[in-house]
Amino acid sequence: MDQNNNIAQIKEALDIVQVVSNYVELKQTGKNFSGRCPFHQEKTPSFIVSPDLQRYKCFGC
Ligand SMILES: [Zn+2]
Repeated sequence: MDQNNNIAQIKEALDIVQVVSNYVELKQTGKNFSGRCPFHQEKTPSFIVSPDLQRYKCFGC
């Protein structure tokens, strides 16, 4: 039972990364992923996706 829950959590945690990576080329940096923001023009990646929090944040927008 616990094991199944863990697997579900891992799968859920990866969801946002998979969705976002359809639009943005993501690189794993530690436990987060970073890439270039799809919402504004930038040369250095300031768009962070956190699988833990199931959230993304752009530090440039
Ligand atoms: Zn942005």
